Formats: sequence, structure tokens, C-alpha cells
Amino acid sequence: MTTPAVEKLLKYFDLEAQRAFDNRAVMGGFERAAEPWTAEARQSGLAEDVIRQVADGLRAYAGLGPEARRATLAALRAQLLGETPPEEPTEDIDGETFEPEAEGASPASAAPPTGPPPGLAAPLTTISGIGPKSAKTLERLGLHTLGDLLWYLPRRYVDYSQLKTINRLWYGEEVTVLATVEEIKVRPARGGQLKLVEAVVGDGTGSLRVTWFNQPWIANSLRVGDAVALSGRIDQYLGRLTMNAPEWEPLERQQLHTSRIVPVYALTAGVTARWLRRVIDSVVRRLAPRLPDPLPEDLRQRHGLVTRAEAVQQIHFPATWDDLRRAQERLAFDEMLLLQLAVMRQRRDWSDLRRPPLSVDDGWLERFRAGLPYPLTTAQEAAIADLRQDLASGKPMNRLLQGDVGSGKTIVAAAAIGVTVAAGAQAAVLAPTSILAEQHFHTLREILPTATGIPAEGIRLLIGATPEAEKAEIRQALESGALPVVVGTHALLEDPVQFARLGLAVIDEQHRFGVEQRAALRAKGDNPNLLVVTATPIPRSLALTVFGDLDLTILDEMPPGRQPIETRVLFPVERSRGYAFVEGQLEAGRQAYFIYPLVEESDKVAARAAVEEQQRLQREEFPRYTVGLLHGRMTQDEKERTMAAFRRGEIHVLVSTSVVEVGVDVPNATVMFIEGANRFGLAQLHQFRGRVGRGAHRSYCLLVPDSDDAAENERLKAMEETSDGFRLAELDLEQRGPGEFLGTRQSGLGDLRMARLTDVRLIERARREATRLIETDPELARPEHQALARELQAWLRSEKGEMS
Ligand code: ADP
Ligand code: MG
Repeated sequence: MTTPAVEKLLKYFDLEAQRAFDNRAVMGGFERAAEPWTAEARQSGLAEDVIRQVADGLRAYAGLGPEARRATLAALRAQLLGETPPEEPTEDIDGETFEPEAEGASPASAAPPTGPPPGLAAPLTTISGIGPKSAKTLERLGLHTLGDLLWYLPRRYVDYSQLKTINRLWYGEEVTVLATVEEIKVRPARGGQLKLVEAVVGDGTGSLRVTWFNQPWIANSLRVGDAVALSGRIDQYLGRLTMNAPEWEPLERQQLHTSRIVPVYALTAGVTARWLRRVIDSVVRRLAPRLPDPLPEDLRQRHGLVTRAEAVQQIHFPATWDDLRRAQERLAFDEMLLLQLAVMRQRRDWSDLRRPPLSVDDGWLERFRAGLPYPLTTAQEAAIADLRQDLASGKPMNRLLQGDVGSGKTIVAAAAIGVTVAAGAQAAVLAPTSILAEQHFHTLREILPTATGIPAEGIRLLIGATPEAEKAEIRQALESGALPVVVGTHALLEDPVQFARLGLAVIDEQHRFGVEQRAALRAKGDNPNLLVVTATPIPRSLALTVFGDLDLTILDEMPPGRQPIETRVLFPVERSRGYAFVEGQLEAGRQAYFIYPLVEESDKVAARAAVEEQQRLQREEFPRYTVGLLHGRMTQDEKERTMAAFRRGEIHVLVSTSVVEVGVDVPNATVMFIEGANRFGLAQLHQFRGRVGRGAHRSYCLLVPDSDDAAENERLKAMEETSDGFRLAELDLEQRGPGEFLGTRQSGLGDLRMARLTDVRLIERARREATRLIETDPELARPEHQALARELQAWLRSEKGEMS
């Protein structure tokens, strides 16, 4: 019969081994545990010579090297156990209620060590602890099979691996105490409504009061003299330290809920944390070790990754934080590899497609350049060369054009449209909002006729507000092929629009245009060429994942003569100084934008707020000027009239909600004043800022956050410090996550559970391996790739069909 004193020390030894013998399993080191332990051991009647030897070993421990420490603990363990051998073999840790049994399968010991894992698809009821009722409850968590349980990952972890003796406890810390129950009783509380279990536990260094509310059964499970592990937060009551409702478990069983890094799972009514943990533990212990590894062994080793089996075990019940990190790394790598494989497959499938080439001679390009009001930048020249080559290749183009705000992407897109039309095909330009569609429409009507010879009538706008008769006429002209260029919103895709010869689709991408829509577009004709243009720069890691199926062209150069925009973050109390500054600009003949964030869910409410603000600014701040208003509830006509008036300079200050992307190009506007700036992502702020500084005048961006919140202001400071949109985009991704850049549903990304889209290193590693795999074994047909191929299939299916 082991005594609690012995059991406790052995626990510390286990923990110390997990910690690689750093002498930190016990706070203050083993040397300081020697004395209290001696006292405890004497009380429990352990033989004096054993006590002395063990205590000496503990005192000497700190001075030893790692190997000697390992040997010492092994020797002490033998001493302790030799004197008092355990009643049961320590391996006998399972065997009671929660043993999973694959249906009709032979016992685990008879199963071959390799081969498919037994029963991943088996229903939950094959676990003897789970009956039909529990299974029903678990279904609410989306859990149907043993495999589902295996992949039901913890949401977080609580660190109860810190073992401490009672005399070293501090108020407020989360710890595990190994102790013996000295007293335990149930008493009514709150006039008998509640049952309170009160216990006193001791470990030789002191004693601690422990209470549980309304769990009277605990008093039946725990008896005086029992050794327990208690994990929880140290509380204070009447000046003494206590633990309220700690996790607990008897010391002699394998510790799931205490003394370790404990997994915390999402629960539902009828499922307790302890129960689910035990169920998952039994499934993990049975099934995880036999999970086949989808990664070829050499690949796994090259990247220093742990096995799938190891990763799944450690993700649930990590021995150390380091093991957890390695498990996460492995599972994240798998996820990213699958995503990249899917993307590469997509690319390869598309590269098999053919379409008629669209080519122009050098003379055409000469005339294009001559028709522009300025020389192209080197970056624009290179981008146009990319596009020209793609269009002439006879394969559908799939290209992403990235560039900072104002880098001149429009001209590049215009060149592609020009080439397409010159080669006899039609082009469609798709924008996320009507206002942006109109803006593109106007710009293209300015550029294309002189630079490409496409007549102005050959460019039409098709948006929701277009009169029905005109819509019909445009559709007809697209179908007959008489109309070469149409500009519209993404809705153009859903419209029953048919093109005679759709050769190019330019998508002004506000990160709302997913892979599926790209595919829908592809279906709209004879494999049209695709040019996706991002409105703001996206971080490289995202470009490689979200747009990983596209070729990338980056405009990394600004047209000459661009003045930096002076940016200031103002405290709310400095607002009036901001107004005074705007007034000065208005006096000098300039114009200003005021942006208000969409505070409420409904744009109705936001519109009202904007209306009020416009009236206030007009009445109180800028009575001598005209303050106009733009919001999402206005009709197309009203919006257009307002923008036209602003462009003509009849409106001096334009108030706008953020739902309306201020896509207008007004060179005389020199101030961008943004209210509630903390509500926006940096990328979006940068986009707003790009609306000014488009003319010859020095321009300014004033950011006013809702409050003086230091952290928010710190984030906004980045706007003052850099005008590099790519840098700001990276910061955004780090600080606010990918939601800033992606629509709600970006296929292929919703299901990333482990991989982080900010982890460029991981993404690039996975991408390299995916490329290598697809190059050497495109169908993943080799024996060593079979498991991976199966996994990819399953993954694609779970993504509900295709990547695109
Ligand atoms: P964005 O990349 O943000 O779409 P635009 O295409 O709207 O940028 O171009 C921003 C401004 O720069 C426009 O007013 C455009 O006329 C001007 N621009 C574009 N290319 C050049 C160039 N090579 N030289 C001078 N100005 C240019
Ligand atoms: Mg643009």
C-alpha cells in the first residue's frame, strides 16, 4: 500500500521527467521539498531509512547534471516502491467504463499494429460509456463517429501542470495541489437550498480548505485518507487560502483533469467537461496511435514534424507546452499542405484548358502609349507585358494584379481590355458596388477611346439602376457581339447576360469575389481570360492562399510626382482643431471628405446618423460652405448627382458612410477626415486615404478614433508612420486576422482550424512541398502518396465540392 506521501513524490518525479529534469516540478526545487516531505512521510509511517535516503537525494538533486538527475530520480523511485510496492501495476489505467470497442472487432491487442485504424467510422455508441442517449446529445456538437471525437479539438488549455505544496500557494494562482483528505462533510447552505461540500486537505506543509457547491456526491467519492490531486484557482476566504470547486481526481488513476495541461472542449447541455474529457481520452488512447500518416516519411522528417499519431495525442492531452506546439505545427502543416495541393490541382486543371489566343502587334502597343497623357511607369510596362503574353498564349489567363492605392492599376487593366477588343473579343469589367462600377465606366470612357480607338459608345454601364429598356438593349448588343466593353457590378454574372465572344473579365476585387464566382465566370464563355485587380494590397501569405490559384503581378512603383499624404491621429478632444484645419483648406479652395463608420448593423440607422452629422457640420462647423451627403440608402440617381456636384466643386465637403466606397477621383479634394477611425482596418483606412493626394495640392488625412484608447491609437499610429499599403496590410492581418481581407465565405479557408493565415513561413513551406508533389506525382498515384491522396479527396469533399 503506497502512502499519499509516496504517491505525491512519484507524481512530482513524473512531472520532473516531463520537464526534462529542470528541477522545477516543485516550486523552489526538490531541495526545498525535502523537509516538508520528510515530515509528511514520517506521519504516514514510512520506514525511517527510506525517508532519510530519499530526503538526501532530494537535497542533492539541484547540484546534479541532467543525466545524474534522471538516474537519481530512478533510484529514489525504486527506493520508494521497493519499500512499499504499489498494490496495482501502474499501467492499469484504463479498463473501467470508457473502453471503446470497435463493433465486432477483435480486442485491441489482437489488431495488427499497422493497417487502417479500427472503427474511425464506428458510431459513438461503440464506446461502452456512451449509450444512445449520450450519443444523441453529442450529435448536437456535430459528433457522430469515433473519428469525429478524435478530431474534436480543444478550444483552449488550462495549465494545471504547476504542482505546488500548500505552504507555497499564492492567492489568485492556478495550480495543482497533491494532498490527503483530512476532513470532508456536506452541509446545507442558503437555508437548505444548496448543499455545500467542505473538505480540508493537507500535504505535510499545511492544510487547505476546499469547497464545492451542489455536488454532494463528491462527499461519497472522497474519503478521509484519500490522496487527491486538486486543480484550480487559489481563493481567499476570511483571510485564509481556499480552493472553490476545484477539478479533482484520485491520485492513483491516470490524471486527466488535474496535474497537467488540461484540454478544454466546447460543451453543450448535458455534456460535462469531465465526462467528455474521459470519453475523448479513451478514444484518443485507442485510435490515435494507429492513425496512418498521410505525409511521406522523408517529407515529414525533412520538416522535423511529429507523426500524425503523436500530433493527435498531444493536441488533446499535451505532456508539455512544447509538445502542444509541435502538435499544432504538424496539424497546421497538414491543413496548409492540403489547401495548397487543392489550389495547385486547380491551377493545373486550368492550365489544361485552351482558348483562342488574343494578340496584337507592337505597333498597337505604341499607339496605346501615344494615346496616354503620361508615360507608363516601368512597373506598368512590365505588367502590361505579362498580360499581353498571357492573352496571346492560347490558355486562359488567371492573373492577380496587385498594387498600392494610386499605383496606376487602371491603365494596366485598360491595356488588357484594349488588346482583347483589338483581337476581336469582348471584355467585361466587374466592380463590387455600383458606385465603383460607375467610376470605372467614366475612367474607361476617358482612357479607351484615345488610347485604343474603342469608341465611347462601345463602352456601356449595366448596373441595377440602369433602366430596363437600356438593360435589354445592352444585353442584346452583348449577345450579338456589337458591344465590345461592358462595365457592371458582380451581379452581371448572375444576370442572364450572354456574350458573343467574352475574351476577358476584369474583376475589381474587394476581397469579396470568391473562388466560386471565378468559376461561375469561367462558365460564361469560351474560358475567358481572368484579371483580378485588388483594390488594396493584400499580404503575401494571403495572396498565396486565397489567390493561390492565380499568377501574380505586382505594381511596386508609384507614378512620379506623388506627394506623401500627411497623416495625423487626433484625440477626440482635438476634433475642433481638425475642423479648423479643414476650414483653412476650404478657404484655399480645396475640398474635403468626411467618413463615418457603419456603426449599426442596418444602413438605415447609419444613414440617419450620417444625415444628422451632415446637418450639424453644415450648420455649426462649415456654414459658409456646402456640405453634401452620400449614403447607402440614397437612390442611384441621388448618389450620382451628389458625386457629380462634388466633382464640379459645387459641394465642398462630402460626408459619406463607409458603406459607400468613395471611389471617386477628385483631384481638388485634399482632406480625408475619418471619424471612428479605430473601427476600420488599416488597409481600409489606407484605401480611404488614397482618395486624396490625387492632384497637385498637398493633401492630409485626419483620423479621429471614438475614444482615447491607447491601444487603438497605437494601431492607428501605423498610418502616420507609413504610406506603404503592403506594410499596413501585413499589420492588419497580424492584428485583426484575415476577416479584414476575406468575405465571410471564402471557400477553402473557412475550415482552417490550426493553420494561421499570418504564418508566411508555414504557408511557403507547404506551398513548396505541394509544388514538388504535384510536379513529381501529379495524381498522387505513387504508393507513398496514397494516404495523402485519400486525405485530399476527403478534404475536398468536406469543402463541399470543388475549390472552385
Ligand atoms: P489605382 O492603382 O489605385 O487604381 P489608378 O489607376 O486610379 O490607381 O491611378 C491613380 C492615378 O494615377 C490616376 O489619376 C491616374 O491617372 C494616375 N496615373 C496612372 N499611371 C500613371 C503614370 N504612369 N504617370 C502618371 N500618372 C499616372
Ligand atoms: Mg483603382
